[in-house]
Amino acid sequence: MRSADVIIVGGGPAGSSCAWRLKQQGVDCLIIDRERFPRHKLCAGWITPGVVEDLELDIGAYPHRFLSFNKLLFHFPLLGFRPLTMQHSIRRYEFDAWLLERSGAPVETHTVRTVCSEGSDYVIDQRFRCRYLVGAGGTRCPVYRNLFRKANPRAKRKQVVTLEEEFPYDYSDDRCHLWFFDKGLPGYAWYVPKAAGYINVGIGGFATRLKERNDDIKPHWHRLTRMLERKRLIRGHDFAPKGYSYYVRGNVECCRIGNAFLTGDAAGLATKDMAEGIGPAVRSGLMAADAIVNGASYDLQRIARKSFDARRLAVSALLRTPYSA
Ligand SMILES: Cc1cc2nc3c(=O)[nH]c(=O)nc-3n(C[C@H](O)[C@H](O)[C@H](O)COP(=O)(O)OP(=O)(O)OC[C@H]3O[C@@H](n4cnc5c(N)ncnc54)[C@H](O)[C@@H]3O)c2cc1C
Repeated sequence: MRSADVIIVGGGPAGSSCAWRLKQQGVDCLIIDRERFPRHKLCAGWITPGVVEDLELDIGAYPHRFLSFNKLLFHFPLLGFRPLTMQHSIRRYEFDAWLLERSGAPVETHTVRTVCSEGSDYVIDQRFRCRYLVGAGGTRCPVYRNLFRKANPRAKRKQVVTLEEEFPYDYSDDRCHLWFFDKGLPGYAWYVPKAAGYINVGIGGFATRLKERNDDIKPHWHRLTRMLERKRLIRGHDFAPKGYSYYVRGNVECCRIGNAFLTGDAAGLATKDMAEGIGPAVRSGLMAADAIVNGASYDLQRIARKSFDARRLAVSALLRTPYSA
């Protein structure tokens, strides 16, 4: 049986941030992930200045694709606006592997199935043992499933369904476009360029609200790709999107039981307005580490529920003044 003081299940942004902070404090920790990194993770790869700050990222020294936007182009059915706000894009394939390596933590490739407590320890699949356990396994996190689900059933109405594709593309428009509520979509679509000729396009919406309208995400995806062709943003590409669903911020408020913590998507922390989950994943991973190392409180109320203050964003777009969170 392999033992570590802290075991982190999941090596995405939540898990690697937690491990990075723990290793900085000299804590013995181990990450377990079912996939070998670099691995593909469906995600537009938009990151906020808060992520850069929390990760103490030196943008100039980051060795992979990193693109900054000094405004976002918001399109609504009848109007559009362009708030001046500094945001960034990365490729998750590169970013996650880099963060994991930077954490300095050992990584085991293993699919976690069962987690149980034995005295003051947690035992995973009868193969791993630890005093502290961090659930960072995303939407289907086994720590959530085994220890937290009863206390925190997921709120169906907070589930979003998505379709997206990321591919090499020699784009001519390097701005980030977002289209909201087109044809009643309870969500939005995106066009997110990456540095050095990559693009990510996708669409997401609340599953229950789509169902209530007898609607499905697929026709919205087809409408999006036709619109991208018509606007000449993407031409001549044979789209092959992949789907994924996850939960935005809802009622998952019990995020610590004993010495077990839930972080990132496992806790359903993506923002309510934009379904932005990287920032909350990083922040919660760091907070879990601080709670383990120096007994800091692990209080998810300190993590923002929304990416933007819509009113301030609109005002800054009208006045052409920079918006910052
Ligand atoms: C289409 C789409 C677009 C998105 N776009 C954005 C965006 O632009 N910006 C943004 O901020 N957020 C975005 N998000 C949300 C964002 O991707 C997530 O919120 C974020 O990845 C959460 O990080 P995490 O570390 O909690 O989980 P994850 O990144 O999902 O990492 C979880 C890890 O756990 C591992 N794991 C899972 N189960 C097991 C198991 N049983 N055993 C061992 N390991 C396991 C997985 O392999 C994975 O590596 C998007 C999501 C989707 C689906």
